[in-house]
Amino acid sequence: MIFRQLFDSVSSTYTYIVAEKNGEALIIDPVKENVQSYIQLIKDLNLKLVFALDTHVHADHVTGSGDLEDVAACVSVMGERTSATCVSRRVTEGELIRVGSQSLKTLYTPGHTDDSYSFLMKDRVFTGDTLMIRGTGRTDFQNGDAAQQYDSIFNKLLKLDDDVMVYPAHDYKGWMVSTIGEEKAHNPRLQVRSQQEYVAIMNALKLDNPKLMDIAVPANLRCGRG
Ligand code: FE
Repeated sequence: MIFRQLFDSVSSTYTYIVAEKNGEALIIDPVKENVQSYIQLIKDLNLKLVFALDTHVHADHVTGSGDLEDVAACVSVMGERTSATCVSRRVTEGELIRVGSQSLKTLYTPGHTDDSYSFLMKDRVFTGDTLMIRGTGRTDFQNGDAAQQYDSIFNKLLKLDDDVMVYPAHDYKGWMVSTIGEEKAHNPRLQVRSQQEYVAIMNALKLDNPKLMDIAVPANLRCGRG
């Protein structure tokens, strides 16, 4: 398997490429401004891009999925709950996305937004903005819901094996990967005794809106086109 973790320094977004050697490739959370460099890397590695997947409708950067679909003739993918009607394939809870001999299992993990999904491979999970390293995604816009996020994290993600690696959609401190066990033990937001306690923490955050929100959300509902 080929695995790459790419970083967009403007939005602190991680983009991932999962591929079969000399075979099919999938990209997760591509950033529009970086599409040319993804295309070049995929060419350099002799891969064929088949899927461009977004974990949710982002508010802090514009997705490159539409451009990749247009340029590389891949298929854009999101979870079925998304309101981005531009997406070509909508996946449901438990559905497998196959890339060569690899597969990613779809997990519906709402809370950061109502269209947030995580994607599980054998030894790693792509958690979008649901579970981050020593943090969790904010829940105060795009139909976010802290109680739902608690459920997604505690009743779904933290039920995975402790050694499953956690790859989030962003990090602002340079952390690149964690594990389920590590987050269970050391993520400060997860050291709560109840759902109510978690909701109280999230509701007290009082964060500014992302700078690009008014541009990014409508653009992402068009898969970043136009
Ligand atoms: Fe987000």
